Amino acid sequence: MKNDIMTPERRARINLYKKIIVYSIFGIIISLLAVSIVLFIKVKQLEKLNQVELVTEKEEKKSFVEEEEKNVQETTTNKEQEQKIESKKEKNIVYLTFDDGPSSNTLEILSILDKYNIKATFFVNGRIGEDYLPLYKAIVDQGSSLGMHSYSHQFNAIYKSMEDFAADTERIHELLFNLTGQDIHLYRFPGGSSTTTTDNIPEFIEYLKRKGYEYYDWNVSGGDASSNKLKPETIVNNVISEIKENDVSMVLLHDSGSKDSTVEALDEIIKQLKDAGYEILPITDSTTPVQHIKK
Ligand code: ZN
Repeated sequence: MKNDIMTPERRARINLYKKIIVYSIFGIIISLLAVSIVLFIKVKQLEKLNQVELVTEKEEKKSFVEEEEKNVQETTTNKEQEQKIESKKEKNIVYLTFDDGPSSNTLEILSILDKYNIKATFFVNGRIGEDYLPLYKAIVDQGSSLGMHSYSHQFNAIYKSMEDFAADTERIHELLFNLTGQDIHLYRFPGGSSTTTTDNIPEFIEYLKRKGYEYYDWNVSGGDASSNKLKPETIVNNVISEIKENDVSMVLLHDSGSKDSTVEALDEIIKQLKDAGYEILPITDSTTPVQHIKK
């Protein structure tokens, strides 16, 4: 072979080349290994960093969730408080109602209500004297509610039969509509739905229901319906002592020319109710009624 003709110089040179190639390969492998190790370390570092970030993110998410839960809890607490205030309010509502008007006292009653910036409810009869006619509108203009209390207020006539009751009710409804433009749905039976002057009240209640009207009785009485003239202090005491027994009070008072002591008592009644934190409201179509006879 060619080996036989190789000079020692050539052999030495070839050995040198071989060594260079082997060392080069060895060097490349070492370099690759070194790069791999560095890369491996870098990757490990990055992974660690990533995990830290993930943990931080998780913690942030967790604290966010906790914050959210806290918020929800706070909202719930607020709602509960609101409900407490709401139910407290419910326990402190008073509806002042005046029956049998309008009368020569109506304007004075309205001006006392105005003084305290409150509204009441007037269950009125049909009075077509020229002094009375403007008073229906005056009640509405003050912001108080109108209710029907029959046209004639004569028990014998209106409670005689279904036809009489319906005719009387339509008569007062029409009068109020003509004078104020309001389609009144509130009704109060003369004598209340517990009146013993007729056995037909359930039938009349059915009639009111058919017409879309609602009837309202009372659970507090000023006692001013009695023919004896009461002292204003007695009316105040009657009202204040009875109101304490109820969550929601509908107070029976009278707007009648002969009931001056009611007017005299009114200022003091409102003052005491306001001082005690009661809310005084007019009855509206959405007011839950107080009724003596269950439907
Ligand atoms: Zn009456």
